[in-house]
Amino acid sequence: MTDLTSLTIAEARAGLASKSFTASELTDAHLAAIEAARVLNAYVLETPDRAREMARAADEKIAKGEGGPLAGIPLGIKDLFATRDIRTTACSKILGNFIPPYESTVTTQLWRDGAVLLGKLNNDEFAMGSSNETSCFGPVTNPWRRDGSNTTLVPGGSSGGSASAVAAQLCMGATATDTGGSIRQPAAFTATVGIKPTYGRCSRWGIVAFASSLDQAGPIARSVRDAAILMRSMAGHDPKDTTSVDIAVPDYEASIGKSVKGMKIGIPKEYRLDGMPAEIEKLWSEGADWLKAAGAELVEVSLPHTKYALPAYYIVAPAEASSNLARYDGVRYGLREGAKNIIEMYEDTRAEGFGAEVRRRVLIGTYVLSAGYYDAYYLRAQKVRTLIKKDFEDCFAKGVNAILTPATPSAAFGIGEKGADPVEMYLNDIFTVTVNMAGLPGIAVPAGKDSQGLPLGLQLIGRAFDEETLFSLGDVIEQAAGRFTPAKWW
Ligand code: GLN
Repeated sequence: MTDLTSLTIAEARAGLASKSFTASELTDAHLAAIEAARVLNAYVLETPDRAREMARAADEKIAKGEGGPLAGIPLGIKDLFATRDIRTTACSKILGNFIPPYESTVTTQLWRDGAVLLGKLNNDEFAMGSSNETSCFGPVTNPWRRDGSNTTLVPGGSSGGSASAVAAQLCMGATATDTGGSIRQPAAFTATVGIKPTYGRCSRWGIVAFASSLDQAGPIARSVRDAAILMRSMAGHDPKDTTSVDIAVPDYEASIGKSVKGMKIGIPKEYRLDGMPAEIEKLWSEGADWLKAAGAELVEVSLPHTKYALPAYYIVAPAEASSNLARYDGVRYGLREGAKNIIEMYEDTRAEGFGAEVRRRVLIGTYVLSAGYYDAYYLRAQKVRTLIKKDFEDCFAKGVNAILTPATPSAAFGIGEKGADPVEMYLNDIFTVTVNMAGLPGIAVPAGKDSQGLPLGLQLIGRAFDEETLFSLGDVIEQAAGRFTPAKWW
């Protein structure tokens, strides 16, 4: 029998339906793979008992013909999603051993559809980072290595555990979140598919908040079809999240294989950066050629405010973070330090519980929201945000169906290689933050490898609530580029 962990979700679904194997066997194969891959540090909590119990329940349902769309599919969950009775930490010391008495809406919907929980996945602390190096559980290792090298590389972040686990076949798919690129950048670094849906498409209820006007949940998977399958279960209106939108969830999988003939694809000239590696440039034009060969029309477009997106993001996101993180005060969750008086308790808990990057964001956020600087920074950044959104609207008004860009300005880098200067790390998000600022959907699809054998991805940006077009176009790229699996060394 083929290794069950190498199957896609679509293949596993077919195998379960034809009784080639059981959900319990599928889960056991993944639990064994997780155990053999602890060196990657992708999981911060393994839940084998829960997984076996859920797999057994799925088998019973499948036998009765009552299995849901994800019946028996083993998934990993980013540790930002609250899981009832299961430790949820956002990979921050400050949450300590927090065990939520509630379940996030997105995960509730996955379990409703029959999926199996394998465990909780590592991420940057409070999802702040682009390399998964800020986690209190330590960095995640990318299963990909440069040809002939054993340097350990980052999987990207903040959903580094999700991307690494999916790429290394330690789960069939994973949940992730994206505030400025945290689904798409790690997907590009690990040759996985990641989609950040339109803001409001998935409920944020029960997901630890970073920057509430930017945060969105989405899946990371090993094929475009699998991402579409997961999206259908994750998306939907939720009265508990007033920013979630009441629009029917389409059958995203039906978009796979749909013709893209006649679609207009924008190539934004502002994304052609000075000093961009020639390999990225080449990948981008190859992607354009594939879409053209499939019948799409390529047009140059302009998104003139792109250059302000990153600085504006690094005002808006920390501002919202400083407000969201005010709740971690030693009173309600996890860690509590300093017992003399309440002020000392707040100070000591927060100083001890937050890592350096989180402290930096809280300080920046507090500064840009302070009375004297609010207009100069926060208000101005909000105005820039409106202009960025308008750039995209103007482009779509001209009949453009989607925009093609590189997903990241480089391939995966080494652990410890970047980050001495925080701005160097922030530059990773240059192609992805605009999409969050505008609230639009964006998908990252593996498209090739660099000269050192590392995967590179392309990004497609769509109109609001038109994820379907992204799945159709993403599938064209996947068909042309193929799928990529790292050579196993662990
Ligand atoms: N890397 C970006 C940041 O650190 C985005 C993170 C994210 O999308 N969660 O803010």
